[in-house]
Amino acid sequence: MAAPLRLISRLAVVTGGGSGIGRAVCQRFAAEGASVVVADISEGSANQTLESLPQGHRGQEHMALGVDVSSKDSVEKLVTSIQCRYFQPPSVCVSAAGITLDEFLLKMEEKDFDRVIQVNLKGTYLLTQAVSKALVASGSTKGSIITVGSIVGKVGNIGQVNYSASKAGVEGLTRTAAKELSSRFGIRCNCVLPGFITTPMTDKVPEKVLSKVTSMIPLGRMGEPSEVADVCAFLASDDSRYITGVSIEVAGGLFIG
Ligand code: NAP
Repeated sequence: MAAPLRLISRLAVVTGGGSGIGRAVCQRFAAEGASVVVADISEGSANQTLESLPQGHRGQEHMALGVDVSSKDSVEKLVTSIQCRYFQPPSVCVSAAGITLDEFLLKMEEKDFDRVIQVNLKGTYLLTQAVSKALVASGSTKGSIITVGSIVGKVGNIGQVNYSASKAGVEGLTRTAAKELSSRFGIRCNCVLPGFITTPMTDKVPEKVLSKVTSMIPLGRMGEPSEVADVCAFLASDDSRYITGVSIEVAGGLFIG
């Protein structure tokens, strides 16, 4: 079935756009008519995503840029480069860049705790702030910020004390941003909470663990990146115009209730 065209004339930036969920979000947004800025720490993989994007809708123009979301300087350069190219800030922003550095609490190194917080939580803060500031300065009255948390931020996960803390933080950040930005500036902020999705990130998880997790998923399988992208497209579009400050689980029913 062809994607609806809900994002014509929208400019979107997607971090982590070079892989997995971020790549699927770029592809879905482009299919719905948006101009997409694919941003990733690896410019090579961002360019690969760029090459895969459908074009041809009115005014559609995509680009790929390198960014390290954990660096304020790098994130500010990203937003400035976008404004130089398109003469406007992105009105849709998806923070999908993320990493894992798993270890049990008793063995976790401080540097691995800090790095995961820096990329997953601080990176989301830096991009959300930079894009929101640019939107407010431009006088725009409409925006959609989408953050990517995790089901693990709600329920915890053995070996992921750093990751689960970062993702719980992303949800709190999103709800607070929604309270500050929605009525004053028309910027809606929502979070998607993927469960276990087939991407390079979960490729690292041992098969034994994945089959145990899969047996606990009511829908009986892991999710696809495109299934998270579908929800992001809904949140980016006017179909979700009365929704802000929420977290939507895309987890096949894992940990229901
Ligand atoms: P992925 O395939 O590993 O994609 C993450 C992308 O982010 C990679 O291209 C990665 O580049 C990039 N990245 C890493 N550090 C970065 C940085 N400092 N600045 C900019 N980009 C950076 O993982 P994914 O599964 O699609 O995950 C996407 C998001 O969904 C993450 O936030 C993740 O935590 C979240 N999530 C995933 C799942 C799941 O089951 N897959 C579940 C819940 C939540 P490199 O590959 O070069 O490091």
